[in-house]
Amino acid sequence: MPDIIQLLPDNIANQIAAGEVIQRPSSAVKELLENAVDAGADEIKLIINDAGKALIQVVDNGKGMSETDACMAFERHATSKIQQIEDLFRIKTMGFRGEALASIAAVAQEELKTKREEDTTGVYIEIDNSIVKKQEAVAMAKGTSIAMKNLFFNVPARRNFLKSNASELRHIIDEFTRVAMSFPEIFFSFTSNGQEVFHLEKGTLKQRIIQILGNSYNARLVPVQEQTDYMNIYGFVGKPETAKKTRGDQYFFVNNRFIKSAYLNHALMNAFNEMIAKDSFPMYVLFIDLDPSQLDINVHPTKQEIKFEDEKIIYAFVQSAVKHALAQFSITPTLDFELDVNIQQLDAVSKPFTDERKSSIQSSSLYKGFTQKNQAHFIEKKSDLKLWAKAADDFYGEKVTTTAPAKNILATELYATIEKRVLFSDNFLQLNSSYIAVQNDFGYLLIHQQNAHERILYERFLHAVAGKPIATQKSLFPVVIDLAPGDAALLQELLPDLHQLGYLLEPFGNNSYVVQGTPADIEEGNEKFTIEKMIDQYKHFSNDLKYSKREKLIRSMALQRSVKAGASLAHNEIKSLLENLFSCTTPNITPNGKPTYFEFKKDELDKMFGR
Ligand code: ADP
Ligand code: MG
Repeated sequence: MPDIIQLLPDNIANQIAAGEVIQRPSSAVKELLENAVDAGADEIKLIINDAGKALIQVVDNGKGMSETDACMAFERHATSKIQQIEDLFRIKTMGFRGEALASIAAVAQEELKTKREEDTTGVYIEIDNSIVKKQEAVAMAKGTSIAMKNLFFNVPARRNFLKSNASELRHIIDEFTRVAMSFPEIFFSFTSNGQEVFHLEKGTLKQRIIQILGNSYNARLVPVQEQTDYMNIYGFVGKPETAKKTRGDQYFFVNNRFIKSAYLNHALMNAFNEMIAKDSFPMYVLFIDLDPSQLDINVHPTKQEIKFEDEKIIYAFVQSAVKHALAQFSITPTLDFELDVNIQQLDAVSKPFTDERKSSIQSSSLYKGFTQKNQAHFIEKKSDLKLWAKAADDFYGEKVTTTAPAKNILATELYATIEKRVLFSDNFLQLNSSYIAVQNDFGYLLIHQQNAHERILYERFLHAVAGKPIATQKSLFPVVIDLAPGDAALLQELLPDLHQLGYLLEPFGNNSYVVQGTPADIEEGNEKFTIEKMIDQYKHFSNDLKYSKREKLIRSMALQRSVKAGASLAHNEIKSLLENLFSCTTPNITPNGKPTYFEFKKDELDKMFGR
């Protein structure tokens, strides 16, 4: 028998190795963006065609490469970022494995242009199947541009494995936003098929969050900030009302690197405990900075999972910092400040974890906060409002936390009785220009006017797009709306459904639209604002893949058009709000699952007052 073991040819070995790093277009996007960040750029542009299948290009104004380095960069294990194994424990750059460019070169056709400040000309290199095909001098400004074309052209099996353009694009947007989110001091743009999708000016983290996640988070962000000698946490969490039914806007960064951690996510969910519906997800963008020696970022090729030297103390810090932030901004009086018993029993929490760090950690208020029982952040008494929250839970059962229409008979009957009790009552009162208290035989309901109206509009729009269009009234003074290119493309797709909702818009060239008609049931005058805000809101929803375009449109429109908290309502407006609410199929929650009202029972009230 002959011997059978052979060494794999380089190109096959490279392709196999590449599979680990470059699984799909978005993995290449991540690597190229990270390289640009590592190069110290403060302007980074991402350009893709055909969801990255045809082209992925990243252009930066970073430090560039010398001609020799530019050729070297495509070799496997070629990196300027570490020299010896110890460097791994003080890594400050995003990359360090020296595999990205080699992998990309193995599975795509590649064009590199790069120039350093000190060089008079730059260098242009073309690579095909890991082989340099062309190399020449080129005039250019400082920085680097790397374009990869026809990803997986030489690995058809992988190419066939790619998902639809919509799905690959979604992955790319995810990677792009993760990098852009963690470097607000860098300008980023993202152009897809010639259309600029993101244009993110340099700014603060808060501005970046709003640029990326949408204006609806404006004024709804709570800053988180805790510093200790061991680690720092900073960033923002969304106020509880921004919690969503889908896990979307959640970002953890450790030393600026986006990570997925079910464990840390759990810490966060715990901090929000009782403030949000059980199956909803709070928004967070949190940065944890700690000594790189406390981390092992090497456990996963794409570096999205990391290992902490001491996970438990990080859990406790995260949870405590977020609770602290929420408490300081007195988001809610129903906070439960008793710490999780599991946390209290941790060695890391009950005893300082090393002698050197003992004194510094022990003296921090954060540490005291979670070691001394019930002393967390000096709030002592749990508010009695908790009782109400519980009463509401008992009443709604599962209903508070689901968006499904009330299918079971029990629930329907329940609404019917509430409706009767309410509708026979003319006895209502608007409070704080936000709530409506309406009396019934059993006590009273406290209705949130905006949430209630959102539900009403949502169901009305649902009927409208399903076939009973809302009548359009011709505009007397048609207004023109100018939009960003990405927004105009988006609006174009929504025109037919918008017409069903009563808005007649016509393209007016150059990303502009004329509003020729508005719904007959509203006054003319606000359409520009409404449409712009609706688009904002729509983009904000566009992380939720489970919703159709139509569903996103009507949700956005309902949110946008609902009467806001703070608006005083006339007697007849309140009356019709009540009537319309209780003619809804699911009157008790907003489309996003927030409660529209709570019922306060008289016997509960009596009990509270000791009667
Ligand atoms: P790593 O980032 O892990 O070092 P890569 O394969 O991603 O490995 O890149 C190899 C090397 O090429 C980097 O270490 C860096 O020196 C250089 N390089 C890559 N991209 C750029 C860029 N955009 N600007 C400057 N240098 C770059
Ligand atoms: Mg890299």
